[in-house]
Amino acid sequence: MAIDLKIVVRKLAQLTPVREDLSDPLELILWENIGYLIDDDRRAALFAEFKKSVGLDAGKIADAPNAVLLEIAERGGMNPQTRVKRWRDIARIVLEECSGDLAGALRQSPPKKMRTLLKKFPAIGEPSADRIVLFSGLGPHASVESNGLRVLVRLGACTEEKSYAATYKAAVGILQSVANGKSDWLKTAYTALREHGKTLCKRSKPQCLACPLDKLCAHAPVKNF
Ligand code: SF4
Repeated sequence: MAIDLKIVVRKLAQLTPVREDLSDPLELILWENIGYLIDDDRRAALFAEFKKSVGLDAGKIADAPNAVLLEIAERGGMNPQTRVKRWRDIARIVLEECSGDLAGALRQSPPKKMRTLLKKFPAIGEPSADRIVLFSGLGPHASVESNGLRVLVRLGACTEEKSYAATYKAAVGILQSVANGKSDWLKTAYTALREHGKTLCKRSKPQCLACPLDKLCAHAPVKNF
């Protein structure tokens, strides 16, 4: 019998700390690019600093002195110079291709063009584009982050395909059909599955004995990916 993802998400959401989600596409893109391989707390601290010292605005980023950007980038992990270049590229795309208003440009674009525009930004591939569409309120499009995807595979909600991209596509299709057009449920599912993958259903040594989904889960054998 197929696992009921509505029950899964409801159980996990009860354990997920409430955080305020970003909902502006430029902010979501900057969030992705603010650091490299850093945890959420460090990412949030750097993002707050960027907001205070530079501003979450393409014009302000374009005008910011290099030294100010580099000083923040150096606290965000490897390759700070690359990060500064990416921030400049983000600002340039918004100014040159969206007349400074990314949210407005996306709202006026048909879905395919919207995704093409999003994928022009650094570090924005298919999953990030899905996430931005969903959390910016641009459409009820499912998205799942790598930790959440691992949870779905272990639960038996979707099968692991030959590539990450194919597994992701299958999982998104399943979430999409369960959500039935409800963006709020898709956002809750994204956040709750990700949190579960980071805390209990970790890549190695999942904490199955402490897991509220133990009785629902088809977790044997546990796969690492
Ligand atoms: S029972 Fe174990 S493998 Fe299944 S979802 Fe929970 S932690 Fe993950």
